[in-house]
Amino acid sequence: MNNWEELNKESITNSEQLAKECDVDKQEIREVIRKYPICISKYYLGLIKEKDDPIWKQCVPDGKEVNDIYGLIDPLHEDEDSPVPGLTHRYPDRVLLLVSNRCAMYCRFCTRKRKVGDPFKAIFKDQMMKGIDYIREHKEVRDVVLSGGDPFMLKDERIEFILRELRKIEHVELIRIGTKVPCTLPHRITPELCEILKRYGPLFINVHFNHPRELTDESRKALGMLVDSGLTVCNQSVLLKGVNNSSEIMKELTYGMMKARVIPYYVYQADLTRGTDHFRTKIKDSLEIMSNMRMFETGLPTPHYIIDAPGGGGKIPLVPDFDAEKSGKEKLFVFRGPSDVERLKNREDVDVILVKSDIDTAVEHIPAIRELKKDSIIVINSRLVSKNPEKVTPELCEALSKHHPIFVNTDFSHANELTDECQKAVSMLKNSGVVVCNNNTVYKGENDNPVVIRELMHKLVKIGVKPSYLTFDPTGNSVKSKTRNCMKLIKSLRGFTSGLAVPHFTIGTNGDRVLVGPNYVIDQDEDKIILQNYASKIYEYPDPIDEPCNANFAEAAKIPEGAAVTEK
Ligand SMILES: *Cc1c(COP(=O)(O)O)cnc(C)c1O
Ligand code: SF4
Repeated sequence: MNNWEELNKESITNSEQLAKECDVDKQEIREVIRKYPICISKYYLGLIKEKDDPIWKQCVPDGKEVNDIYGLIDPLHEDEDSPVPGLTHRYPDRVLLLVSNRCAMYCRFCTRKRKVGDPFKAIFKDQMMKGIDYIREHKEVRDVVLSGGDPFMLKDERIEFILRELRKIEHVELIRIGTKVPCTLPHRITPELCEILKRYGPLFINVHFNHPRELTDESRKALGMLVDSGLTVCNQSVLLKGVNNSSEIMKELTYGMMKARVIPYYVYQADLTRGTDHFRTKIKDSLEIMSNMRMFETGLPTPHYIIDAPGGGGKIPLVPDFDAEKSGKEKLFVFRGPSDVERLKNREDVDVILVKSDIDTAVEHIPAIRELKKDSIIVINSRLVSKNPEKVTPELCEALSKHHPIFVNTDFSHANELTDECQKAVSMLKNSGVVVCNNNTVYKGENDNPVVIRELMHKLVKIGVKPSYLTFDPTGNSVKSKTRNCMKLIKSLRGFTSGLAVPHFTIGTNGDRVLVGPNYVIDQDEDKIILQNYASKIYEYPDPIDEPCNANFAEAAKIPEGAAVTEK
């Protein structure tokens, strides 16, 4: 048995064991776990500092879970949109395939609470094979998200088997794995596992960290091993009351993740899952948190804030209000050349250093920067990769690999530019542990149409590059018409390609970039928001109710099972 399997065996799985470690009411715990199982790795338990802290809340059962009258069993209609068990096909080009129902820890707020950890709902090989057959028969599926439970709770051989089967299918361009083990049982990320993943790359690994205290030496090491294997690691967080519902915490988490070379991807509004109502935040508070943590000034990827529409509408992004004063500038240092070393010495608060020269010159300054700022994020905006890929040499990559975290933003604007040489340069950078994102410009008459942009985005994610920003050519047409056109382009990507392939639309040049986005909000009032999904269907997400009083229960709890869905 592997080390991680032994560690997993030592996890807390019943109320007796938990009561030995934590101050809990055994009876209450027993009642909760009759319905929703418990599993806490000793590692994760060790992160708790005190009762009810953000770590405790995520893993220790709470009596409120069995008293929740608001939540829905399957809020996202995953089982309904399921042509074969364990596979959800909601968007035209991608599917979600559940390959395990076990996790190293059962998060108390889990959306799949109805399934995870229940031995009667375990996923066996024949079910999984039916899912893979379905993918093989559906040529429109370009993108497969492996999820669960946690795919990395499977043995290496099984993981390799799944990847091998999927890679045999020609139309599958993108494989993503959603996993929480880097956060809850980082020992699971072994060199052997990384070797397997490397063979089937480029892969996207979506991890799930919610609080900066989850970033420990162990978890950072696990993340680093994945990135060093050339994989693209993205983070998805969920806003949870009492855990991370503050902009300070979310900022710290986001910068912390990027220092671990992880791309922030989604921040979710909590789903309406039964047993998790006590974690839900109000939408207006979530928007405020998001508006305080934008970091696009820094040239680094900013997460999209998403409501996954109850009733199966899919992910709908909301764009927080823009306030130029709060856009990550305070953490940014622009490094123009050696004369800036002195200035950098006097800056305490720098998290991000934007080096204003291309990779081949930047690499000469980086050792001096790194000496001063041990773990700041270095960002290089590069034309080298697209214009002179031959200059991305093994020596250059080797030099970069000594000074992580380094992010390189490429500037590909058309799929044709991604020649074999350019792809090779990207892959060399990635195999050296550099995070590669793309910021592209929209030029009139060249790439300002949905077909061209979609092709570019597909090709980028296929080679493991995260499209980060899209902006328009500052010359030419009126800003108004260009803005309208870019909005159209973003809209045309939404729902029809991996969310991963949808960049943020920003207006402006370096120094004062503004983030804008298509508006999917139809209406919003005190207690709910009404949204339109990519296919123009209307969905409603109710805010949590503050202090329910018994008399109003029936009134207050009128969220119908399966939530209101009407065609527009
Ligand atoms: C989240 C999700 C996906 C992937 O969505 P992206 O936006 O591409 O990350 C695919 N299918 C289902 C059912 C999902 O919930
Ligand atoms: S790891 Fe993911 S699937 Fe497992 S319990 Fe946590 S949120 Fe749910």
